[in-house]
Amino acid sequence: MKSYITTPIYYVNGSPHIGHAYTSIVADILKRNRQALGYDMMLSTGVDEHGQKNQEAAADLGMDITEYLDMRGAEFRKVFDMLDVTYDYFVRTSQDGHKTAVAGMEQTIFDKGLIVKHEYTGQYCKGCEQFKKESDLTEDGQCPLHPTMQIEEIDETNYFLKMEPFRQALQKHIEDNPDFVTPEHFKTELKQMLAEPLEDLCISRPKSRVTLGVDLPFDQSFVTYVWFDALTNYLTNIDWPDGDYQAWWATCEHLIGKDILKPHGVYWPIMLMAADLPLPKKLSVHSHWVGAGGVKMSKSIGNVVDPVEIVDTMGADALRWYLARHMRADTDSQISVEYIRQAYNSELGNKIGNLLSRAAKFARSRFDGHLPDRHDLTSEDEAIRAAVMKATEGFANWLDLADIPHRVQDVITVCDEMNNYFAEQAPWDLIKDPATVERCQTVIYVTLDCLRIVFEALRQVIPASADKALGMLNSPADDIACPWRPELDTLPAGTPLGEIATLYPRVNAPEAA
Ligand SMILES: [Zn+2]
Repeated sequence: MKSYITTPIYYVNGSPHIGHAYTSIVADILKRNRQALGYDMMLSTGVDEHGQKNQEAAADLGMDITEYLDMRGAEFRKVFDMLDVTYDYFVRTSQDGHKTAVAGMEQTIFDKGLIVKHEYTGQYCKGCEQFKKESDLTEDGQCPLHPTMQIEEIDETNYFLKMEPFRQALQKHIEDNPDFVTPEHFKTELKQMLAEPLEDLCISRPKSRVTLGVDLPFDQSFVTYVWFDALTNYLTNIDWPDGDYQAWWATCEHLIGKDILKPHGVYWPIMLMAADLPLPKKLSVHSHWVGAGGVKMSKSIGNVVDPVEIVDTMGADALRWYLARHMRADTDSQISVEYIRQAYNSELGNKIGNLLSRAAKFARSRFDGHLPDRHDLTSEDEAIRAAVMKATEGFANWLDLADIPHRVQDVITVCDEMNNYFAEQAPWDLIKDPATVERCQTVIYVTLDCLRIVFEALRQVIPASADKALGMLNSPADDIACPWRPELDTLPAGTPLGEIATLYPRVNAPEAA
């Protein structure tokens, strides 16, 4: 069983931001989920190193382009490593193998007569590196995605891919494959993009304007349009065209933000059809992160959430937790350093870490550092055990992108129930009376065994701290069965507990200046 997940490849005209962190983290969560189910996984992420914006970013810093790309590539890798994103392949589009394959695909399509050369006058957004139709622009004639950039009228000769001949076939593919685009909201949006005849797609840029790119194989005075080049990474990562790529490709799922639905939902499928290649299995689309109050993040407002700063102050799992938990399916979701801090302190700290710490420390001080025996179970014990099994069951099943916040919510809900159970059973009272010591042992056993199951599930979301917690329970992650299922009573009574450390040390708000 195989599963191939891709993130977009990110433009390197700046440092990694929260949007990059989000897509790569959820891709990693899906990978860990499927690995736990026994799938062979391939996760690709990486950087798009071509195009005018990257060329200009290097020039702005007065850097040689190769030196600049090496620096940014290393920076993105470092951030993904900090975030525990376990990618299998890191894409750099400047690699020779990729460039040769892109040129090969262009030549194939060109030979079929589907690429034509003509003059074109159009409104060009440098931010999108795209020609825009009147209807794509705001009333003031600006790009809605790049309101601070000037739209330029450009008149030049270029090469174009014929799109219209494939429109109906793509519409049919979407009808025949109901899961091709999810969630539904974005499928509707894609269908609207395909409701009208499609203009030819400009796939070249003259070298007089852009030099950083893949030369067109049939005309060396042009480079390839960045999207045509970038999208092909999804195939070149798995050794298309010469390697054994088919089995991976058949399972391919693209994770994308809603702003790049058109390149992935229209351009890419049509490029593949034009080259006689099968389409990817699925596009999983997500919305964007905005600041508190729904305000767009910007340096001038000061509400930018920097992933590196969060990792430095609260750890990678604080960020992974917030991002996994709070993305809404169809609408933008809010994020701020304060929201992340609150979720970290109140959920990871107070609800999960604190319960582990209390129950484990109790066992250390009262039961000689060992997991106590489990005696007869009461209906309360049975109820909490059943609730934990049910709440974690979702992580023993295939997760789709949109499922992640719901499964995390299930865990939080059951952790509330576990805290209530612990408070009501009050082991600190039970221990005082010799007649109820056995009952006390059972409560501690049940609590720690349930926490073990919770942390086994959470390894898919917050792997570093979950593994640390399992170490404290002396239930090493390496011993977990694959495929994973929640299972009760796998911690034998008498197990010596590991060193108990605070899993999620409280992070206080910075002092008001
Ligand atoms: Zn734009």
